[in-house]
Formats: sequence, C-alpha cells, structure tokens
Amino acid sequence: MPDFDYDLFVIGAGSGGTRAARVAAAHGAKVAAAEEYRVGGTCVIRGCVPKKLLVYGAHFAEDLQDAKRFGWNVPDCDFDWKTLTRHVFDEVDRISEAYGSTLATHDVEVIREHAELTGANTVRLASGREVTAGTILIATGARPQIPECPGHEFGITSNEAFHLPAIPRRILIAGAGYIANEFAGIFHQFGAHVTLINRTDVILRGYDESVRDRLLQISMMKGIQFRFHAEFRGIEQQDDGSLKVMMTNHDPVEVDCVMFATGRIPNTQNLGLAAAGVELTDKGAIRVDEDSRTNVPSIYAVGDVTDRVQLTPVAIREGQAFADTQFGGKPTRVDYGCIPSAVFSHPQMAGVGLTESQAKTKLGSVKIYTSDFRPMKNVLAGRNERALYKMVCDGETGRIVGIHMIGPDAAEILQAAAIAVKAGLTKDQFDETVALHPTMAEELVLLK
Ligand code: FAD
Repeated sequence: MPDFDYDLFVIGAGSGGTRAARVAAAHGAKVAAAEEYRVGGTCVIRGCVPKKLLVYGAHFAEDLQDAKRFGWNVPDCDFDWKTLTRHVFDEVDRISEAYGSTLATHDVEVIREHAELTGANTVRLASGREVTAGTILIATGARPQIPECPGHEFGITSNEAFHLPAIPRRILIAGAGYIANEFAGIFHQFGAHVTLINRTDVILRGYDESVRDRLLQISMMKGIQFRFHAEFRGIEQQDDGSLKVMMTNHDPVEVDCVMFATGRIPNTQNLGLAAAGVELTDKGAIRVDEDSRTNVPSIYAVGDVTDRVQLTPVAIREGQAFADTQFGGKPTRVDYGCIPSAVFSHPQMAGVGLTESQAKTKLGSVKIYTSDFRPMKNVLAGRNERALYKMVCDGETGRIVGIHMIGPDAAEILQAAAIAVKAGLTKDQFDETVALHPTMAEELVLLK
C-alpha cells in the first residue's frame, strides 16, 4: 500500500463534507478537510439556517396584526433589520464554531484554504502545499446562477440578501423556485414591495399543482406581484440609483434591488477535475455512481456538487453513507425515495412522495383525498387564508403515495406524516388513528 499523508482528504466542510469527515475519523481514518470560506457551508452560513431565522422574524408581521384580535393591545411596532441580522449572524457564528469543534474533537485536521486536485490521490492547497490521500471526497456544494444579461452586476443573489444594509423599498426577484418564493415572503413581510418574475407561468415546479396554486393565490392576495412569461433582458441603473429591469412581454419595472434566484450550479470550477480525469454530467455536475464514486476510483463526491437532490439532509446522508461504506465496513446506500421538502413561504408549503399528476401518470388508478379548511386561528384573527391538505393514494391498494399541504406549520406537520408515507401505510391506517383535537394536523386522519 502506498504511503499517503491522509486516509481521506475532504474538499469542502459543508453539510456533506463535515459529516463524511467526522464519521470517517470516528471509524479510525486519518482525515483532513479543506474549507476556503467558512466551516458549516451553505446551509449554516447562507442557506437554511439564516433563511429560516429570517422567516421566523418576518412572520411576526402577521402575528402582531393577528394578536389584536386575540385581545392584545399591540402598539404601532416598527422593525429593525440591523437588529435581526445581528442576532442571526451571532447564531450563524455559534453553529459554525460548533461544526469546527465537532471536527476538532474527532481529530479531523481543518485546513482553511482553497484546495484543488492535481491527480487521483493528490491535492494542492492555495498555499502551494501538496498533500496526498488514499481517498479524496469532493463536497464543494453549489453557487447561485446569474443570468448572462446586460447589467447583471447590479443584481444580488441569496448570498448577499442576508447582508443588505436595509430592506429595499422595492425588490424584484427573478425565479420561481423555493428560494425565490421564500425571499419574496420574507421581503414582503418586512414591508418591501415585491415583484417576482418568471420565464414560465409555473411556480415551484415539482410541487403538487393545487398546493402551489394556493400559494400563488395567497401571495397575490397579500400583495406580492407576479409577472409570468417574463424573460430577463437586462438591468439599467438610473441617475437616482434605482434599477430599471427589462423583460420580455412586460413593461420595465423600477426597483431598488434585484435578486436572482434562478437556480444553483455545482461548484466544479478551479477544482482540478480535468487534471484528475474526473467526468462531469451534461449539466456540469460531478458524475457519481450509487456509492458516490466518480469515474476515478479513489475520488468520490457528495452533496450539491453532484446535483442529485440539493437539500442539506440529503448531502448529510450521502456523506454518512460514503464514510460508513469506505471506512466503517458498513456498505450503505442512500435511499432517494420519499424525500420530504418544504417551502418556508407565508404560509408554508410541504410535500412528500408523488404529486397527484405524477401518481396518475405512474399508477393510472389513484384516489385523492383533500381537506380545504380555514385554520381556527385564522378564523378568529379574521385572516382569510385557507389551508389545503391533499393525500394521494394508490387506487388499487389504498397505499398512500404522497401527501402535500399548505398552511401554518405545514413543514412541521409533514415531517411526521412523511414517516407514514415512507413506511407504506394506507389511508385506512390513518383513519384508524384517533384525531388529536383541536389541531390542524387532525385533518390528516379525517380526510374525505
Ligand atoms: P455546502 O454546504 O455548500 O458546502 C460546500 C463547502 O465547500 C462550502 O463551505 C464552500 O466554501 C467549500 N468549498 C467549495 N469549493 C472549495 C474548494 N475548492 N476548496 C475548499 N473549500 C471549498 N436545504 C434544505 O434542506 N433546507 C432548506 O431550507 C434550505 N434552504 C436553503 C436556502 C438557501 C438560500 C440556499 C442557498 C440553500 C438552501 N438549502 C436548503 C440547500 C442546502 O444549503 C444545500 O443543499 C447544502 O448546503 C448542500 O451541502 P453540501 O455539503 O453539498 O455543500
């Protein structure tokens, strides 16, 4: 066996890389991880965590309004973005440090530098130092895609959104995926005038049609503006500093901030992939097999850089499976079936399994059960927002193949329901469960 500096060298200490490094080290491997920015990666530093904290902060706008109907004498409140972001950044620092400590206690050497491959077992660090490793794991994540158009440099992405000096008075968000819709909700609740533009007339592709239609309807009712079939053409800065956004099929829009949420591309640049002979997919992601192995036997990749499912828990599972298989003697593969996901909009949307139309295409015979209701809290608050729960069942067996919902706390409720879908339970088994009253979740065992 050749003598390497490390058993495992991980490039990127985000969700997937950190888990893989820690678990491989716990299995006895000598591990180093290079991180060019901050330990914790996208999720901790500029993704799930700070985003969810902003969502919590934003929701107070509605809660404070609703509180009056519950007898609270709420004086006119104002909101201070700087205070919120200061506390969010403190929390981000705390979690990032916790990730660093976990790696340190597992004897993972963290090298705070850019790293790139120079061969199948060699990595060059930004300092010029070359290291060797028996196995290399690429876990470099993804970055926001910015459309090639004149004036694109005036726009920001979700990376910069957390660091805005103030809430813009008017913001245009390009895109219609979960990041676009979540930030539309956040900025709207904080008082910005939000316009969301999209190339097609479909938001949140992949989610159940009726659920995403309900979000569109509620978002429009709240005052978020949507422009469909609007292809980005460019941004011009005006003399007063405002931005004029040109798009197809619509008049230009004048705003104070433009945010691109038009997809995320795998971080494969400046990684020395060609030097090591690592192949990419047509979409520019690292091509891997079911064990996350690339075409080069000593090199593996997990997480967003492989563009399988770009979610934190998936990157973590891939990192865990890789480490258990390669260093723990426990061959494990990630099961990609029934991955729940959510949109932290106002209200939240969440889903697991097949949508109604996917089920019809795949199974032919399906049975759909829905509950379209106004949550008790919304009724008293005088908030005209209805929740929608949908259960999709195999028409032959009654097995639940999907659950989709929009309403307060939908993500929290769906996580528990996802266990049942994954376990292959039937509608009858749900119905046998006594309702927990009064809750919104009880609708799941009372569906008609
Ligand atoms: P990352 O966590 O991105 O880590 C990659 C790391 O590699 C980074 O720290 C980077 O600095 C480092 N790196 C890159 N190149 C090099 C190099 N050459 N040398 C050294 N270091 C390098 N997912 C959810 O599940 N739920 C959510 O609610 C959610 N919300 C999100 C909101 C936003 C705004 C964004 C942007 C993403 C969100 N995600 C969410 C997605 C989630 O953040 C990613 O799926 C997850 O972080 C991917 O983990 P990863 O390990 O593949 O990469």
